[in-house]
Amino acid sequence: MRDLACVRAKTLLAKKAVKRGDIILTSKPFCTLLDSSLIGCYCEYCFGSARKDRILRRCRDCGRAWYCSDLCRELSQPQHQRECAVFRSLPHFTPSDYARFLARLIHKLRDGGEEIVEKIDEKRSRRFRDLESHYREVRESEEHRSYVESLLPDLRVLLSPDSLPQPRHLLTIYGKVRISYLDAMDSRQHRQSYLYQHYFFSCDCRLCRDDARERLTSTVTCGSSVCDAAVYLDETADGGVDPCQACGCTSFRDDLRQEYRRLAALTRTHLMNLNEENPELEVWREVVASQEEVFHPLNVLRAKAVDALLTATVNCRGWHSALALAKLNHSAIRHYYGASHPTYGLFLLKLAKIELCNMAFSSALQHLQEAEKILEAGLGSNHPLVYNDLMWLLVQASEETRVQIQRSLMFGERGVQHPDQELRHDQTHHSTNRARS
Ligand SMILES: [Zn+2]
Ligand SMILES: [Zn+2]
Ligand SMILES: [Zn+2]
Ligand SMILES: [Zn+2]
Repeated sequence: MRDLACVRAKTLLAKKAVKRGDIILTSKPFCTLLDSSLIGCYCEYCFGSARKDRILRRCRDCGRAWYCSDLCRELSQPQHQRECAVFRSLPHFTPSDYARFLARLIHKLRDGGEEIVEKIDEKRSRRFRDLESHYREVRESEEHRSYVESLLPDLRVLLSPDSLPQPRHLLTIYGKVRISYLDAMDSRQHRQSYLYQHYFFSCDCRLCRDDARERLTSTVTCGSSVCDAAVYLDETADGGVDPCQACGCTSFRDDLRQEYRRLAALTRTHLMNLNEENPELEVWREVVASQEEVFHPLNVLRAKAVDALLTATVNCRGWHSALALAKLNHSAIRHYYGASHPTYGLFLLKLAKIELCNMAFSSALQHLQEAEKILEAGLGSNHPLVYNDLMWLLVQASEETRVQIQRSLMFGERGVQHPDQELRHDQTHHSTNRARS
């Protein structure tokens, strides 16, 4: 959905100079729902994660929602109380997330949500009704209409007969809630078709017009063993392989396009079934290994596969392999997101944690300092990730670096074993996992 706020924020930007890190718009979520795959891992209200100092407790009535405090449970009541009663009377009823979210939203609108006004600046404000509905596009799309129809059985259970909106009104609400973020690390074709299907517009942004960037998403390694340039490969039926722009090499194996298409299809199939929080280690190890000789590290399918394997490896605490994978993907993440994007900042944070686990203290410190600049500007210094996780790791990395320098000055060599190294190594693991969660 094209949010009016974005358009207005752009207008604001055009009027006055905005410094990096300035807040130009804040917005409270109108309605929220925790993804059902994450129930029990995060608080249903504040989305704080379960950890040692934040134990989650189930809703006493239905047992389906988890809260980190009595306050969160209480604040969640307006959203949860009606579905709670339904879950209590129908313990085996498991509605889809989308139906649950729509039911919460419809209840909120009926409970006075229509009248909630959000201020955008001194002069302007908006209500739910100001959001673009895309009613016409939704009504004309067979796919969307049948999806809404598939939600009806769940909605009839979650909503009383008098609160289920008329079909036209339901399609209007449905068209307004399709807000999500889109991964910048993808090919133009994938991004544009996703945007059209979900947000009903043909994107013509700077990224979509950048042909050089687009060509990089589909690249193979150069045929020359001494060249590490990315070579464009056209995947379409009558496409070919370009000569290498760096060394002019034109000799590529005969079956390269065929092999590329096979591996690209395989990767896409696995990406469709990817569990982002918990990718299967064996699956992604195999995908990454099969791409090895063919895909360039900046190829978007390669970067996504390596990223999935990195997550799986970190989940299994394979810190040594994780470091190699993070280094391998560093340039692709930086290239596709840009050096000041919060996602790149989060990647640096992850890289630094892995480096701490591998006792590479000074590079961890360097990456944390780089992450600090990006995350402070992107998330604000009062974001828990910045004032808690990042600061804590910064203190740890600078302390370890200081000790390491001192030790090398005293003993004149690197990597002198410290008697309690094992112990501190374990503590690093612990803190890393705490910070991840
Ligand atoms: Zn909470
Ligand atoms: Zn409940
Ligand atoms: Zn675009
Ligand atoms: Zn080359």
